[in-house]
Amino acid sequence: MDGISIAGLGKGFGGAQVLRGVSLGVAAGEFVALLGPSGCGKSTLLRCIAGIERPDSGSIRIGGREVTGLRPSQRDVAMVFQSYALYPHLTVEENVAVPLAMRRLNAAQRLPLIGALLPGTRAARDSITRDVRGAAEALGLGPMLSRRPGQLSGGQRQRVALARAIVRRPAAFLMDEPLSNLDASLRVQTRREIVAIHKAAGVATVYVTHDQSEALTMADRVAVMQAGEILQIAPPAEIYADPQDLRVATFIGSPR
Ligand code: ADP
Ligand code: MG
Repeated sequence: MDGISIAGLGKGFGGAQVLRGVSLGVAAGEFVALLGPSGCGKSTLLRCIAGIERPDSGSIRIGGREVTGLRPSQRDVAMVFQSYALYPHLTVEENVAVPLAMRRLNAAQRLPLIGALLPGTRAARDSITRDVRGAAEALGLGPMLSRRPGQLSGGQRQRVALARAIVRRPAAFLMDEPLSNLDASLRVQTRREIVAIHKAAGVATVYVTHDQSEALTMADRVAVMQAGEILQIAPPAEIYADPQDLRVATFIGSPR
């Protein structure tokens, strides 16, 4: 399978079992929302997929490759968090270009050269510029390519973080509650933009949220999670119409 494939993932912290044998497949081009109450293990599962956390058991494949023991930089993943770390001294265009420029440099060169972006031949530079502008424009950032993060609103900064994540066309796109720092009207608008960039990139996407309306409006399938387990995974309409057990029905039926 080309997207993400997880089998029997287990993870504990101290004595607490946080993931209890989670299995999940996300096809290339599919958008899966991980929906569940705070503390049920959503972020831990996402961090295991990203390679930030090491699972105790189970396996993870991304883009057809076994990655369970690999570091984040060795996996073809991009992750966006609720707080977004942009480089304050770089412009929007340079921030979005960082992953493409990094890919062209070896580790020893990276740090001193981070300010001297867009290295290499003219053809390589042109291709980076094209990809960067495409990603930025998809997120409505076209008019602000030369601004710095300090001159942007919170919503615009989050869009820069999204453009930076998607620009190198990862096999897996992981988002952990990326809208929770935005105000309500901006959240709804940014939802649409996230779905649009996911579709344009055709990437396997896992979107963590505790917000039902986000999960149900954005995702192709919703995985309802509770206490370290996926209780049900199905298209949004099916989760509503046919909850598989009382725990799903209770969670979906409860007021937010
Ligand atoms: P969610 O994202 O669904 O809110 P998390 O995956 O963040 O849940 O956390 C699940 C449980 O694991 C929580 O009880 C949390 O306190 C615990 N946990 C998460 N990360 C760690 C950690 N690094 N060390 C200890 N406990 C952790
Ligand atoms: Mg979380």
